[in-house]
Amino acid sequence: MENYRVLLFYKYVTFSEPEKFVEDHIVFCKSNGILGRVWISYEGINATVSGLLENVELYKHEIKRYNEFSDVWFKEDKYSSHAFKKIHVRFKKEIVNSSFGSIDLTKTATKIDPHYLNELYESRKDFLIIDARNEYESRIGKFKNAITPQLKTFRDWPDFVDSLKGLENKTIITYCTGGIRCEKASAYLIEKGFKDVYQINGGIWNYINEYPDKFWEGSMFVFDERRIITPNEKEELKHIGKCHFCGTATSYYINCHNQNCDIILLTCDECKTKNDYCCSESCKRSKNQRPVFHG
Ligand SMILES: [Zn+2]
Ligand SMILES: [Zn+2]
Repeated sequence: MENYRVLLFYKYVTFSEPEKFVEDHIVFCKSNGILGRVWISYEGINATVSGLLENVELYKHEIKRYNEFSDVWFKEDKYSSHAFKKIHVRFKKEIVNSSFGSIDLTKTATKIDPHYLNELYESRKDFLIIDARNEYESRIGKFKNAITPQLKTFRDWPDFVDSLKGLENKTIITYCTGGIRCEKASAYLIEKGFKDVYQINGGIWNYINEYPDKFWEGSMFVFDERRIITPNEKEELKHIGKCHFCGTATSYYINCHNQNCDIILLTCDECKTKNDYCCSESCKRSKNQRPVFHG
């Protein structure tokens, strides 16, 4: 039974007392069975949490109690259990690690709704659609024809933007999971002189909820126990990632069980077992294996 809810939300806003918020919020979450991660900073809030439906309703009220967050948009999924094992409420310097320096977050790109993106695709207008997420996220899912910069972390975005020199007049759409990274990514593009930049309102999450079978291909990586969401009903578009070993279509990630290696690895179920959850023969021989719990 899907009596749990997973909430994803963020808001950039000048927030005056993040330390006090941390103290109060952790108490609230613990006494109401809310698990997940909540980052708070002077620039706003970024959170994914899970809980029973009735507790999540209380949680939403708790957040809206703060004037700064009274208009927060909660993106909500049904789920059959918690999507986290713990609750972390932390004070952070930034709600998304970017290290872009000071960029003007009041000058972010115009937000377009999912149906407008469909119209763009269908009009065959010339535009660039750019994934602002990390490489391992875009490897298993992306918008049709999207440019997927090979970002190791979001901090690599400025280097990627350098490579777009000369395209300042192009129509550019950026996207990420729920929109939070695009606010900074698009503001950065605008600051660098790009003139026609848009971001998708509510990110991929919002798009696939409205149009699971349109221009999204593959799975969406999520930062909770679910790991991935696979919206597409069309069999050939369900999985665009490929098994590291045999090339079979998959969206399934593991971390190499040689703890000295630990790389994130796409694998099919069969190859995972065959390779003892490791990425290579040498990792299989490592003495520092992560324990596997059976049953
Ligand atoms: Zn395989
Ligand atoms: Zn390895």
